[in-house]
Amino acid sequence: MYLIIGSGLSGAVIAERISNILKEKVIIIEKLEHIGGNCYDYIDETTGILCNKYGAHIFHTNNEEVWEYINSFETKWIRWEHKVLSLIDNKYIPIPINITSVNELLNETINNSKEMDEWLKKNQIKYENIKNSEEMAKSRIGEDLYNKLIKNYTYKQWNKYPKELDKSVLERIPVKNNYDTRYFTDKYQVLPDKGYTNFIKQLLNNKLITIILNTDYNEYKKNNDLSIFKKIIYTGSIDKYFDNINEKLEYRSINFIKEIYENMNYYQPNSVINYPNMNVPYTRIVEYKHFLNQKSKHTIIFKEITTDIGEPYYPVPTERNKLLYDKYKELADKENNVLFVGRLANYKYFNMDEAINNSLLFFDKINLTMVN
Ligand code: UDP
Repeated sequence: MYLIIGSGLSGAVIAERISNILKEKVIIIEKLEHIGGNCYDYIDETTGILCNKYGAHIFHTNNEEVWEYINSFETKWIRWEHKVLSLIDNKYIPIPINITSVNELLNETINNSKEMDEWLKKNQIKYENIKNSEEMAKSRIGEDLYNKLIKNYTYKQWNKYPKELDKSVLERIPVKNNYDTRYFTDKYQVLPDKGYTNFIKQLLNNKLITIILNTDYNEYKKNNDLSIFKKIIYTGSIDKYFDNINEKLEYRSINFIKEIYENMNYYQPNSVINYPNMNVPYTRIVEYKHFLNQKSKHTIIFKEITTDIGEPYYPVPTERNKLLYDKYKELADKENNVLFVGRLANYKYFNMDEAINNSLLFFDKINLTMVN
């Protein structure tokens, strides 16, 4: 029998593999009142619209194994090419940066990819060695776009300027030399037909799996004999596991402000609109009705304000946190029979496909040790 802590994507994939392939029993302990971790979604009662409780999740991948895996369940994955607009100087600018965004924001007259490449080359700042996210952004899009689009948005999102953040944060934002306004360029970009909770339910749909909700692992371990488990797989925050250590890692959380608009078709012209302006407290507004063109007489929006308090969503990649994580990792490696998997346990901002891929690779390793 195996014990898994956390029923998010990482934990659910491992539970699915262990129960279906090894045919072994699994107990899942979940501290929240629902399965699915941050992917959890639900139908809003007033509007009938499917909403993510913890912010929009768009599945995108180039990984064929992951794609094949998610398609081996009942869920149908429907193509959805995500787009984002940013409200700057009273104009909606398409993100990621592409020819239209540069022309509209900086009054340029770029006409084709060759001219865009020339513009980028002229404006990108060269660094011998990129040290942080400010340099990363300026090396990719130059000073002007950085100031308008990135600097303040990042401060609102992280409560830190890009200079204080590891370069990986702004390595995530794509730059196009054409008119492509899609947020992702991956081969597969999809949404689940009936939502992520439904998909995760399918992963966990096996009699060998028992799910215990509303249960904190640190409490559970006081009252239960853990020696009955072949392995314990922990997918929660790594620093929460070591609750006797006071120095904690930083996480950013999101405060969601829900607003329902009855008898309104749409509130805004796109599913996600970013607000880099410092005078607005929220970073973005998500209107879920746009996703998969849902039908309702009403609409619902969520304003997202990032905060330090609340459920941990984003690991904060600073030098201090990196060094502290390394210390936790050393302790984790010494833990007897406990394995740490997933975004929170690895203190790394995985996309959903990376979370699935890591869990599949992790399972292959356990499987091998079981066979040998
Ligand atoms: N970002 C920004 N301006 C934008 C969009 C993104 O400065 O309009 C920065 C911000 O620091 C953010 C990072 O780019 O945290 C990654 O953006 P992404 O859209 O991947 O963030 P997520 O959707 O995961 O919160």
